[in-house]
Amino acid sequence: MQFNEQTSTKNVYIIIINIKNKTIMAFELIKLPYASDALQPVISQKTIEFHHGKHLLAYVNNLNSLIQGTELEKKTLEEIVVAAPEGAIFNNAGQVLNHNMYFLQFSPNPNNKEPRGKLAEAINRDFGSLENFKKEFVAAGVGQFGSGWAWLSVDKNGKLVITKEPNAGNPLRSQLKPLLCFDVWEHAYYLDYQNRRADHLNDLWSIVDWDVVESRM
Ligand code: MN
Repeated sequence: MQFNEQTSTKNVYIIIINIKNKTIMAFELIKLPYASDALQPVISQKTIEFHHGKHLLAYVNNLNSLIQGTELEKKTLEEIVVAAPEGAIFNNAGQVLNHNMYFLQFSPNPNNKEPRGKLAEAINRDFGSLENFKKEFVAAGVGQFGSGWAWLSVDKNGKLVITKEPNAGNPLRSQLKPLLCFDVWEHAYYLDYQNRRADHLNDLWSIVDWDVVESRM
């Protein structure tokens, strides 16, 4: 009888802890800091609604259900992206982090249409000019075979690097700090640009909020 009571008490305790963890730790779909039609014509309302409201939402829901009841529930998104082995958890966590960075770096009216301060200095130092940086960044996105991402990151010595990553790849896994990303999955541009990936990437520069990018340094 005593044993049963203890078991019962323990079960109640576990259920309460799980509810608490779930309430606090579940990842949420980010709210966009602009209206769904605000980035037109570079990103149409329809693309935003599918990309944010369906694709990203699915990654968030998948991630929450995959980590439910595991020790990963207590980890931050960044910790999961760094540590998860290749597989479903990494794919969904990477896509949530990548898309959060992606959507939050855009603005219909960027405070700064060009980088300034230490970011501008670093771009000129490491790529020669802003124009050349943009050219190399778009080339990385165009050169990514299939789905993935182009990234600007800063390494441990403060040097800027451009990388391309397949699928849900994130530079955090290579000990880099990511600053800017362009999504080259077809869901990001196909409704608006069809197969013209390079045109889409070149047009994205007009909506990048460089203050956000610099704040990530
Ligand atoms: Mn995407």
